[in-house]
Amino acid sequence: TIRTRFAPSPTGLLHIGNARAALFNFLYARHHGGQFLLRIEDTDKERSTQQAVDVIFAGLNWMGITADEEPVFQSTRQARHTEVALQLLEAGRAYKCFCTPEELKEMRERAMAEGKPPRYNGMWRDRDPSEAPPGAPYAVRIKAEREGETVIQDLVQGEVRVANAELDDMIILRSDGTPTYQHAVVVDDHDMEITHVIRGDDHLTNTFRQLMIYRAMGWTPPNFAHLPLIHGPDGAKLSKRHGAQSVVEFRDEGILPEALCNYLLRLGWGHGDAEILSREEQIRLFDLDGVGRSASRMDYTKLSHINGVWMREADDARLTDEVMQRLAGREGVDTGEDTRARVLTLMPGLKERARTLVDLTDSAAFLGRSLPLSYDAKAEKLLTPEARTMLGALARDLAVVDPFTAPEIDAALRRFAENSGHKLGQVAQPLRAALTGTTTSPGIDATVAALGKDEVLARIGAVLH
Ligand code: GLU
Repeated sequence: TIRTRFAPSPTGLLHIGNARAALFNFLYARHHGGQFLLRIEDTDKERSTQQAVDVIFAGLNWMGITADEEPVFQSTRQARHTEVALQLLEAGRAYKCFCTPEELKEMRERAMAEGKPPRYNGMWRDRDPSEAPPGAPYAVRIKAEREGETVIQDLVQGEVRVANAELDDMIILRSDGTPTYQHAVVVDDHDMEITHVIRGDDHLTNTFRQLMIYRAMGWTPPNFAHLPLIHGPDGAKLSKRHGAQSVVEFRDEGILPEALCNYLLRLGWGHGDAEILSREEQIRLFDLDGVGRSASRMDYTKLSHINGVWMREADDARLTDEVMQRLAGREGVDTGEDTRARVLTLMPGLKERARTLVDLTDSAAFLGRSLPLSYDAKAEKLLTPEARTMLGALARDLAVVDPFTAPEIDAALRRFAENSGHKLGQVAQPLRAALTGTTTSPGIDATVAALGKDEVLARIGAVLH
């Protein structure tokens, strides 16, 4: 069975490049009826934080990406990493390197001076360890092949090859006894029985190094799929100046998790013209052969378009909860039950227009504002003395509408317009200005109905002087 994993290092944010790798691993496993696992690569004690671990868990949970087994914390497996390194040492596939930091520095500098890449020169590869001073600290290095080449049949990149002479004898166990990243990844992927390693193509050079360890241990390596990175809209490396980069930022900007997943999937993977795909469809259709080789460009406009589509599909009560959470703490906005009821009633109209939860919240805020409202310049302009007088007359008609529902309100507004010789817009626009303080809102009948009779009459009263 197919087993994939997401192996983030908890050293910062959950970047969308990583989130996409998580999604692809998850979908690949689900598509093939396999398992998706999570491994927290927390061996770098200086840089790993509990907060970053929490961010990863929360982000994956928010995106609906769930692991099929308990997460593995790499730091708990150090004894096993050491055990494998010692096996390699015993089998003669690795050796002790007693180089001092000064010697290594000199080696690097000499290589650079000769215009060569700074590689370890194999100084202790064939030397007898007894030549080292007694008790001298040593690192364990893998004996890399000197001849031939290493070829990867990458499931995304195709065939990729490197001459073995390019790879030096890398350290697998440091002189302080801690395993290196490359070594820990291989031992863990092997022990977790990972069949497919799907990760960013910035790891391609690591893969060649990691394969040395698989070969030395006689282990079957997993399949590899290296995903192109996500670039900014201008083709440069995605950075802060382009916009949001981490899952939390997108959430805070009011992107729904379904929309983010849908967008990240479509970014670099295609299935015909299909744009909006449910999780079920994603699982059914996803496979690695649909992943392109070139870097993808982040398109924030497209993301908000996709988000708009998902918002219109989303359940009104859920969107109302999101809006109420975001309204809490806004000055001059009541977030009690009355406001919630109004937001819920008007949600079908509100969500038609919004592209993000932030837009949605902005457009719903008027429902919770207490009197006196403030009116923006355009609204102020509509509230002429004549309009105010007209609204006074209209209020008397609205007061007797019963039941106070959108169709009854619509009928009353039309009747009022007809009887007073106005066009419907001439009535609706000043009314909207008086009720919302702005010139935009969902349909006037729905807006009036959502506020409720008492509030509508109070808000009209406030513009009558
Ligand atoms: N811990 C690595 C990272 O966060 C992932 C390595 C891998 O997927 O093998 O970049």
